[in-house]
Amino acid sequence: MDFVNIASGSKGNCTVVSSNNTTLLIDDGINIRTLEERARLSNIDLRNVNALLITHEHCDHIKGIASFVSKYHIPVYCHSESRYGLDSKTLAYVQDNDMDLPFEIGDITVKPFRLPHDSNYNLGYRLSDGKKTVTIATDLGCMNDAIFANLEKSDLVMLESNHDIQMLKNGSYPFLLKQRILGKNGHLSNDECADTVLKLSKAGTKHFVLAHLSQDNNTPELAFECTEKTLDKQGVKEGIDAYVDIALQFRTMQKIHLE
Ligand SMILES: [Zn+2]
Ligand SMILES: [Zn+2]
Repeated sequence: MDFVNIASGSKGNCTVVSSNNTTLLIDDGINIRTLEERARLSNIDLRNVNALLITHEHCDHIKGIASFVSKYHIPVYCHSESRYGLDSKTLAYVQDNDMDLPFEIGDITVKPFRLPHDSNYNLGYRLSDGKKTVTIATDLGCMNDAIFANLEKSDLVMLESNHDIQMLKNGSYPFLLKQRILGKNGHLSNDECADTVLKLSKAGTKHFVLAHLSQDNNTPELAFECTEKTLDKQGVKEGIDAYVDIALQFRTMQKIHLE
């Protein structure tokens, strides 16, 4: 399987996961010109996309979809509770699918699972081609055993590392917004992400992509260091025992090929 994050953060999200014969786009919160440009740089032919999976209806995850489906005419999967956030153009492509159950798209088994977030509904996705498994979980206010079970034993996990708690607390955001982000339905901090990465790496996961970093309350260096140090304290060496990449807002990451 191949994994590439095209963009990640509150200004727009998009990830591509592909197997031998299937290509899935997860979220599309960037404009079509940027998506096409970045896909080309990663050697991804958007005409080969088989389906688009939506995590939730916040605009940083859906705002590019209407123009994308109008041009590429591909089926869209989203939880019924998230549909109200979609425009009529997008709704015309939404499949009538039970998103509480696993289903197949080509040779990829898609297992959606619920994440706690202040949207109507939010899904993580566990994607497997029978040989490798990639799991995506962003926009979640907390980690719990049920979520962890969905992440565990993946070959690659893309997990939110949204904010540094001190930067957020000392920053300029209004009190209520800080409370929202820190709350159980907000976003995952660097510390919570790092603790989860450590547990996952001990359970066998090798590749991690830290995602949905806040532009105001985090830096790629802080997010990386927090996870790296947490791993190191327990004898897990980044670059040897585990590989940690950062998904960025304005630059597409290098494709990760799992074999
Ligand atoms: Zn988001
Ligand atoms: Zn969100």
